Amino acid sequence: MSDQSIMAAPILILPERSHAIASDLRATLGVDKVKDDYSTLTAYAVDASIYRMMPKAVVLVESEEDIAATVRYAVERGIPLTPRAAGTNLTGSAIGAGIILDVSRLNRVLELNREERWARVQPGIVLAELNKQLARDGLLFGPDPSSGDMCKLGGMLANNSSGPHTLRYGSVKDNVEALRVCLQSGDWLDARAYGFDDPVCADLLKTHRPLRDLQSLIQENAPLIEQKRPAVSKNSCGYNLFGLVDGLARGRFDLPKLFVGSEGTLGLFSEATIKLVEKPQATLTALIHFHRLEDVGDAVPKLLELRPSALEVMDANTLNLIGRAKHGIPADAAATLLIELDAEVSQTDLRAQAERMTEISRRYRLTSDPVIAFDPEQRDQLWKARKALYPTLYRFDSRKKPINFVDDVVVPADRISELIRYLGEFFAGQRVPVAIFGHIGNGNAHIIPLLDVNDQGDFKKMVQGYHEIHQTVLGRFGGSICGEHGDGRVRAEYVKTMFGQDLYNLFVRVKQSFDPSGALNPGIKISDRPFTDHIDYERLSKPCATCAKCNAVCPVYDVFQSEDMSSRGWFEIVTDKNYSYLNSKRVVEACLNCKSCRTACPAGVDVSQLILDRRVEHPNPTAGAIFYYHAQTARFGRFLKFLARYQSLWDRPLMRRLIDHLTKPFMRGLAETARLSPQLVLPRLAQRHLRDRYPELIPQAKREPRSPVAYFHGCAANYFHDGVGDAVIAVLRKHGVEPDLPPQRCSGTPIETYGHRALAKEGARVNLASMAGYKKVVTGCASCTLMLKDYPTLFAGEPEQAAAQALAKRVTHISEFVAQSSVKPTMASQQSTKCKVAYHSSCHLRAAGVTKEPRAILAGLPGVEYVEMPDADRCAGGAGTYLVKDFETSQRIVERKRRAVEQSGAEVVATSCPACMIQLRTGLQGAAEVKHVAQLLQEAYEAADR
Ligand SMILES: Cc1cc2nc3c(=O)[nH]c(=O)nc-3n(C[C@H](O)[C@H](O)[C@H](O)COP(=O)(O)OP(=O)(O)OC[C@H]3O[C@@H](n4cnc5c(N)ncnc54)[C@H](O)[C@@H]3O)c2cc1C
Ligand code: SF4
Ligand code: SF4
Repeated sequence: MSDQSIMAAPILILPERSHAIASDLRATLGVDKVKDDYSTLTAYAVDASIYRMMPKAVVLVESEEDIAATVRYAVERGIPLTPRAAGTNLTGSAIGAGIILDVSRLNRVLELNREERWARVQPGIVLAELNKQLARDGLLFGPDPSSGDMCKLGGMLANNSSGPHTLRYGSVKDNVEALRVCLQSGDWLDARAYGFDDPVCADLLKTHRPLRDLQSLIQENAPLIEQKRPAVSKNSCGYNLFGLVDGLARGRFDLPKLFVGSEGTLGLFSEATIKLVEKPQATLTALIHFHRLEDVGDAVPKLLELRPSALEVMDANTLNLIGRAKHGIPADAAATLLIELDAEVSQTDLRAQAERMTEISRRYRLTSDPVIAFDPEQRDQLWKARKALYPTLYRFDSRKKPINFVDDVVVPADRISELIRYLGEFFAGQRVPVAIFGHIGNGNAHIIPLLDVNDQGDFKKMVQGYHEIHQTVLGRFGGSICGEHGDGRVRAEYVKTMFGQDLYNLFVRVKQSFDPSGALNPGIKISDRPFTDHIDYERLSKPCATCAKCNAVCPVYDVFQSEDMSSRGWFEIVTDKNYSYLNSKRVVEACLNCKSCRTACPAGVDVSQLILDRRVEHPNPTAGAIFYYHAQTARFGRFLKFLARYQSLWDRPLMRRLIDHLTKPFMRGLAETARLSPQLVLPRLAQRHLRDRYPELIPQAKREPRSPVAYFHGCAANYFHDGVGDAVIAVLRKHGVEPDLPPQRCSGTPIETYGHRALAKEGARVNLASMAGYKKVVTGCASCTLMLKDYPTLFAGEPEQAAAQALAKRVTHISEFVAQSSVKPTMASQQSTKCKVAYHSSCHLRAAGVTKEPRAILAGLPGVEYVEMPDADRCAGGAGTYLVKDFETSQRIVERKRRAVEQSGAEVVATSCPACMIQLRTGLQGAAEVKHVAQLLQEAYEAADR
C-alpha cells in the first residue's frame, strides 16, 4: 500500500461546523467538560515544542465514557482529535486543529500491589506525584524524564519517554504490563502481552479487525522488521514493530509494545498497569569535570562498569550557556559528567563505589576532584541545573532561542565524543551557538542550537542542520533520529528516511488499519508535511520556553487541571496579539499573585507580573474605594477599632451568615466569586493597635532614627491581635535590638493585585522615605518582605529606583535576622516531650529567597520535633485577599495542604505570613495549631526566663 493513502485522508472541518463542535460535545458530555472560548483555545494552542495550532474545542474528560464519546464524535465527522496530558512534549504532538482531549482530570492511582510491584494508574497523574505516592510503599516508577515535575503518565506512555535513569530502569515500554485503549471505533481494548494460544487473544482477534491485520503484518514481515531494527540502545522513532516481533518469537502478541510510543495516533489510554521497582536505599550523585572532551568517550565504558543508574553529559558550550560560575563549574572544564550510583542495601556499599569512581576518574585530566553528594538536598542541587537545562537556555539571548529540531539523536555510547566533536565543528561552521547534553550512557544526545527563526539566514541554517545532522547520525553513526522525545511533527518528515520505504509502508498500514478515518492525531509520526509547517514564529521571539514548569507549582492549575487556568496558559493569553481584558477577564482575575511561577521559572519569566500589568489596565473600582479609605491610616484605624470592640457580637455563626448575605452585592464589585464566607476564620481585630501598644518605639517626627533597625510591621501585625507583631518585637529585643516602628503604609501587595499600581506607588514612596535612615528593615510578613524587595521593579526606570534598590538590600525577614545575629539568647532546656512542628513555606517568602532560615530555626527549638511536611512549598490558597475574592477555589487549594499536614502528623504548623495563617486556620479546621515562626521563637526564649 502506498503511504499516500494515509497522507491524503480527508480531515475536514467546515467553517460552519466548527462552532457546532463544542455545542455538540457539550450536549453529550455536559457543559463543564467542554470549552471553546478564546482564552482556552489560545492556551491549548501550544505545547513545549516550536509549533502552534489553534484547536476548535477542548474536552476535559473525567471518565472512559467521556473518552469514548469524544472519539466516536470526532471519528464519525473526520475531525482531528489530539489527546493531551501535560503538553510538555518537544515535538508538537499535543496540539492540533480539531479537538484537544485533555486527560489531566483522570489522575488517580487506582490499585497498587506492593508484593508484586505493580500499579493501575490513570493517564493524568503527574510523574512526580505518582512517585510521591509510591514512595510511601518504598516503590518507584523507573522511567524519569527530566520533565518529571510536570509531565503526566499519558504523555510518557504515548511518547515512550525515558530519562537519565533509563540506564538502569529502561524506557516506558520496558515498564508497562497493560493498557486500556480506546480504539477509533470507541470500543475498549485491554492491551496486554497475550499468548497466541490464549482464548482471550483469540476472542480479541475475532472482535477487532485491526488486531488481525497487525498479526498477519508482523508474521509476514518479521524478517524485514528485524533487518531494520535500529542498532542502538534506545529508539522511539516509528511504531515499535520490533517489540511485536520479539513477542512473536516468544509466542506472544505483545500489544503494549505497539501502543507505547504511538503518540496518540492509534488509540487513547484511560489507564495503564505499570511495573514498579524498589526505591534505592541510598544514592550518590557526582559531578566529574573533564579537561579534554576525548577523555569523556574513553571514561564512559569504564564508568559503566560500575553499573551507574544514570550517566549524563554536558558539553563545554552548554556549561558556558547556563553559566559556569553560577553552578560552580570550573572555567576550564571541556565537559562535565553527572553520574549516579544506587545502593540496594545501605550507604556503606556506596562509599566503596565512590572510591572506585574517583579512582577511574583520576586516570584522566580533571579540572578538579569529583564533587560527590550523598545528601538528598545536595544531590537535588546537582541535578537542578541539568533538569532545567532547556528552558534555562531561554535566558541566553532575547532573539536567539533554543530550537528543538535535531534534539534527540542516539548513537552507540562509545562514539558520543566523536558525535559531540562532529556537532561542535558543524555548528562552529554555521556560527551557531549550541548546547549538547544528554544521556551519554545510552548514547542519547540532546542537541539544542540557538537560533532566531524569524531571521532568514538562521531559518536556512535550521533546515540545513535538520537534514545534514540527521543524515550523518543515520549514515556515519548508524544511529537513530529519536531516542525518547517522539517523532511528533518535527521528525515525521524523516521517519521514512530512517527506516526506508518498505518498513515505512508497514507503519502506514498499521496507522491505516487502526485509524482508517485518519482522525487520531493527524500530522504526527506518519506524515509527509515538512517539519517547518506550523512553526510559531511569534512565540519564538518571546521569553517563555512553554516548558510548563510553572504549571507544576501553580495552585490554580492544580485544582482546575485545565491549561486556560494555568501559569503557562496565562503567559500565552496575556501576551497574545488578540488579547483583550474583556475576552480574558475570567482567567486574568483567577491568578492568586502567589509568585510560585516566578520562583520556579528557569527562563526568568514572571507570569504573575505580566498578569498584574494587565490588571493595571483595568483597576477594580470597588477595591480602589477600599484602598483609598485604607490609605487614610487614622480614619481606617478608627473604623477597625470600632469593629474590634464589637467583634464578639458580629463574629458569630448566625451574624456571619447574615453579613455574608448582606455584603454580597458589594462584594460582587470585587469579583463575581467574592464573598465573606461564614466559614472564613477571621483573625481577632486589635482594640489597641500594635503602634498604640509600643508608643516608646515610635520615632519622633523629623528626628534622626533612634535605632539602626526598623520594624516594618505591615497592616496585619498592626491591626490584628494575633501575637505576631509582639513576637517579632520580643525576639528583636532578645537579640539586643530595640527597633523603631517608623510611620508606614501598606507595602502595596494587595493594592497592586487589584490593578491600582499608582496607589501602591504612592504608599511605597512614603515607605521609601520613612525607612531611608535604617541599616536594617526587619519584616515579619512574607508579602511585605517580597514587596519591599520588589520596589525596584515597581519603580523601574523612575527616579525612585535607586532608593528602592538601596532599601531592597536592607530588607531582612525576622528569620534571616535571627540566623545572622551574633547574639544567641538562651532558650529553654531540651524537653522530654516534644511537639511536632511542620513549616508551611509562604510563597512570597520563597520568592524573596528565604527558605532555609525558618526551617533551621524551628529545627533548633527545644521542645520541637521538626517534621518536613509534604508539599511544604506549595501555595495554601490564601494569597492576601484571594480567600475573599474566590473563597470556593481557595478552599479547593488548601485541601492539598490539609492532607499534607495530616500526613506529617504535625500538631503545630508554623509559617511567616498573616494571610497564610488565616487560610491555614480556616482550611485545617483545628486539625493543627497555626503559629508564626517568631511566636515559637518567643515562646522558647521566654520559657528560659521562667
Ligand atoms: C524541560 C523538559 C525536559 C524534558 N526531558 C525529557 C526527558 O528527559 N526524557 C523524555 O523522554 N522526554 C523529556 N521531555 C519531553 C516530555 O516531557 C516527555 O515526552 C513527556 O513524557 C510528555 O508528557 P506530557 O504529559 O507532557 O505529554 P503531552 O505533551 O501532553 O503528550 C505527549 C504525547 O502523548 C499523547 N498522549 C497524551 N495522553 C495520552 C493518552 N491518554 N492516550 C494517548 N495518547 C496520549 C499526546 O497526544 C502526545 O502525542 C522534556 C520536556 C521538557 C519541556
Ligand atoms: S513561564 Fe517559565 S516555567 Fe512557565 S512555561 Fe514559560 S519558561 Fe516555563
Ligand atoms: S502567581 Fe501563582 S496563581 Fe498566578 S500564575 Fe503564578 S503560580 Fe499561578
